[in-house]
Amino acid sequence: MVERSAGIVGPASFADVCVGYPVEGVFTYAVPEGLPVRVFSRVKVDFRGRIVTAFVLELHGKAPSGFEVKEIRSLIDESPIFDERLLDCARHVADNYFGSLGEALATALPSGERPSKRYRHPFAASPPRSIVLTGEQQAAHDAIMDSFGSGSAFHLLHGITGSGKTEVYMEIARRFIGEGASVIYLVPEISLSSQIFERLYEVFGEELIVYHSRLTAQQRLHNWMRFYAGDAKIAVGTRSAVFLQCPRLGAVIIDEEHDGSYKEHSTPRYNARRVAFYRCRKEGGLLLMGSATPSVESLYAAERGLLKLHTLKGRYGKAVLPEIEIVRLSSARPEAMLSTALKLHTKRAIDGGLQAIYLLNRRGFAPFVVCGECSAVLECPKCSISLNFHSDGNMLCHYCGYQRRLPEACPACGAERLEKVGSGTQRVEEIIAGTFHGSRIFRLDQDSSRKKDAIFDLIEKMRAGEIDILLGTQMVAKGFDFHNVAVVGVILADIGLNFPDFRASERVFSLLLQVAGRGGRGDVPGRVIIQTLNEDHYVFGFLKNHDYYGFYRHELSVRRALGYPPFSRITRLLARGPDEAAVEGAIARVAEVLREGLGGVPNATVLGPAKAPLARIGGNHRHHVIIKARDIESIRPALRMVGSERLPRGVYLEIDVDPFDML
Ligand code: ADP
Ligand code: ZN
Repeated sequence: MVERSAGIVGPASFADVCVGYPVEGVFTYAVPEGLPVRVFSRVKVDFRGRIVTAFVLELHGKAPSGFEVKEIRSLIDESPIFDERLLDCARHVADNYFGSLGEALATALPSGERPSKRYRHPFAASPPRSIVLTGEQQAAHDAIMDSFGSGSAFHLLHGITGSGKTEVYMEIARRFIGEGASVIYLVPEISLSSQIFERLYEVFGEELIVYHSRLTAQQRLHNWMRFYAGDAKIAVGTRSAVFLQCPRLGAVIIDEEHDGSYKEHSTPRYNARRVAFYRCRKEGGLLLMGSATPSVESLYAAERGLLKLHTLKGRYGKAVLPEIEIVRLSSARPEAMLSTALKLHTKRAIDGGLQAIYLLNRRGFAPFVVCGECSAVLECPKCSISLNFHSDGNMLCHYCGYQRRLPEACPACGAERLEKVGSGTQRVEEIIAGTFHGSRIFRLDQDSSRKKDAIFDLIEKMRAGEIDILLGTQMVAKGFDFHNVAVVGVILADIGLNFPDFRASERVFSLLLQVAGRGGRGDVPGRVIIQTLNEDHYVFGFLKNHDYYGFYRHELSVRRALGYPPFSRITRLLARGPDEAAVEGAIARVAEVLREGLGGVPNATVLGPAKAPLARIGGNHRHHVIIKARDIESIRPALRMVGSERLPRGVYLEIDVDPFDML
């Protein structure tokens, strides 16, 4: 147990605090008499005319001079909610991802102010279950624990879908908890966390907490405090759970480590994988990352000995990997979206009382509204992107949320010939309903899952056999473990394949192999039908053979040739603002400063400036510069120089180290 500094101070003392804004440094406030302010707790202060949350880093008696010291307004926490280890981690995040310390703390800590009553999960309690590993699972488990015992902290478990990685994770977690240590278990998505939560709950009961963005701020604070105090020893959560504090960190487990959701999208743009790495090194914990489709970067790290690689090659029990068939679609028109093969296999499955999962990675009804007269595409007025038609009659921008009713006539030429082109999940839901009469369909996407408990409802209905076809976006590909899925259909596999992004193929390949892995997990064999307009694309050849390593080798050779990660680190600097000329001026200056600053750094290249592929979002023009470098350390001084440049009014600069998305 780490000793936590928690001195209550007397009157006339001062507190150094930082705030969750892009300002460097600490600010000194006076502690009002009688207010029991603690180090490493949160208070409210008046900061530049606004009452904001501040993090107390130090208490002292040195009155600052030269300005009038304001008093702390009030306490949020009566006792500390973090300690030096989190402070150190937040500093690391702030330094590496270019945010202020206060922003890093605000990202890491829960924002709730009053812990709520306990969070009740909607599952019924079941009797505790014990874990019995298979031979292969046990061997992986032993290898991980033995080598951790002899000093290797970083591990990658590559196990095919359904091989029982979760069982291995749970057994390892059990070992650490048995020794009094705490375990953080990261999952990429909330849909997944609910099913994993249930499995973990069967084993760990009240030792378990959840931590993700669907909880209220109050519930998050409550769960944070339970984990911090060591009352709960295992936490399952999404990326921000990587910051949870505990008396002694035993292990961080990162399930589906390839997933992009481990990357944060606002400042500081940390990657939970790297933060976990840092914490485990600092705090002596075990880092175990696992996936059926490890990221190219992680597998390459394993090949270079930075991670220890373990594999699970067989599915649990009688289950075998499903057969994958690639089917050419004649067109992307709605009436052509279900191939004969998919219809046939689905019908057979439903008739036999089995289930199908369909993936279409696009929500809404139709991605385009096009004028049949003048061919104009209706675009978001604030973004350089088409509006999506949704079945409620609205057109919606998926980037900024702009919404309007579908007009009668084309705004460009006035013709009343607007057509909805292309298909999203809502349209395919209609097509399926029209094809398989009386079938019970569940649609899972951002729109349908917004309803409270939608995912629990889905899980229960899938289990009870009350759903015939589960249709959804990438949410259906992530981690679900249902045992009666005989058919997996990918409606249009091409979505995302041509994105101007060096990870486009990797992302599509792992999404498709993951969704394929949802089939045939129980006693019934699975069949996967992948529909595409472009069956000659190389990803399909590897997919058909479940050839993850083949794909990896191919991808690695492309990355090596182009000098992309894992052969370099990428940093993206993006300027945005409403005035395009100002944005262009700013990014030109950024590029100039970078080129100067990186002049002496070997193997650092500056690409651009250029318009970002998504040239405008939410009214802001976007221009970027990309740096490829061997490491971040060597370019950090130049990035700092850029960070201290004065930008024109209204232009904001995003610095993204290891961006996941380059649109
Ligand atoms: P993965 O995470 O590798 O995709 P899972 O851990 O979800 O695989 O395992 C697939 C299925 O097999 C699950 O239903 C799981 O409960 C079952 N399973 C795997 N290993 C075992 C085991 N050792 N004992 C009991 N059931 C197991
Ligand atoms: Zn928009």
